Amino acid sequence: MRAYERFLKYISFDTQSEADSDTVPSTKKQLKLAEELKNELEKLGARDVELADTGIVYASIPASKGAEERPALCLNSHMDTAPAMSGKDIKARIIENYDGEDIVLNEEQKIVTRVSEYPVMKSYIGEDLIVTDGTTLLGADDKAGVAEIMTLCERLINDESLPHPELKIMFTPDEEIGRGADNVDYKRLGAAYGYTVDGEAIDEFSYENFNAASAVINISGISAHTGAAKHVMVNSALLAMEFNSMLPEADRPECTEGYEGFYHLDSITGTVESTKLEYLIRDHSREKFEKRKEFLRNTVDFLNRKYGYEAFKLEIRDSYSNMLEKVSEHMELVENALLALKESGIEARAVATRGGTDGARMSWEGLPCPNLGTGGANCHGRHECISVQKMDKMVEVLERLVRKFA
Ligand SMILES: [Zn+2]
Repeated sequence: MRAYERFLKYISFDTQSEADSDTVPSTKKQLKLAEELKNELEKLGARDVELADTGIVYASIPASKGAEERPALCLNSHMDTAPAMSGKDIKARIIENYDGEDIVLNEEQKIVTRVSEYPVMKSYIGEDLIVTDGTTLLGADDKAGVAEIMTLCERLINDESLPHPELKIMFTPDEEIGRGADNVDYKRLGAAYGYTVDGEAIDEFSYENFNAASAVINISGISAHTGAAKHVMVNSALLAMEFNSMLPEADRPECTEGYEGFYHLDSITGTVESTKLEYLIRDHSREKFEKRKEFLRNTVDFLNRKYGYEAFKLEIRDSYSNMLEKVSEHMELVENALLALKESGIEARAVATRGGTDGARMSWEGLPCPNLGTGGANCHGRHECISVQKMDKMVEVLERLVRKFA
């Protein structure tokens, strides 16, 4: 079976996750796809197939002859789709031999994928492109990854001549709400390292991501009748503005790219009496990241001294860390991936992710885990798409990749 055939089946399952839920997994419907994947793995002849009550599907593919002693390699994708848009009743359509022009997704609702807005569409010219009807997302993120891994499993099980180490397959729920790595049983998994197959373009390979923290600043003012406020009132909303004005103006998401970090004012709420600022702090460099946190502390100290009381209270919480520190202990993960892509005719680019990934969490929990693309584009929205050929290509990349660990 080709990867896209599996993909079309998987996207018929609505697996949207939900941030406000505190059940595990966050939505019951994800378990239906998990059950389907478990059954499929069993039918293919995978070993140790299990659907854990956390919603994670585990399976093993025994090593090829001669590679039994090699460390086990994990391949992971997530089953859920983003809360940003519905993934229910997806009406996918295949545009054969795509010509690179604008695509009318939905005539009636006048929904068009414009190449001027999504220049990535040019990379699909001549391929058979899978698109939505404009009313849902497609679910390539990350059911394409699931389909590609599953197709690799089928290939390896059916052809004993293909070299590979023992593979540990893992499909996780709730990645889109940041909980994909919450319940991974690393002992049960038993892999030394792995890859997430959860990117977009197949020529993008990522083994770096942000270091991330959130900062909350509670500011207390002193309220007074405006008519009698002289030398009494301290307006906390104005203190908040003063604080923000002391941050470097160019260190904002909208002014930065590549390896440039930032402070992001994510939320501000307040009155004269109290104001709350919430910031996200991001930087790839550990050193610069720590300096950013230090800068916030110093700024708060300075202002408290200026006003003569503890007007500003700062709380910083680390969220996740750059996987590079962990992946660099296993640089073969990077070398092998770039080589496998190259051998498949793909000029790969290492891209430093400007965000976090499940792989980053897993890397810090003992499973170094860079990220490979799936071939999809425009994820989390109605313009999401992927091509039949890119999915085939990614299966080829995975086949070449696992061979390098044998
Ligand atoms: Zn994803």
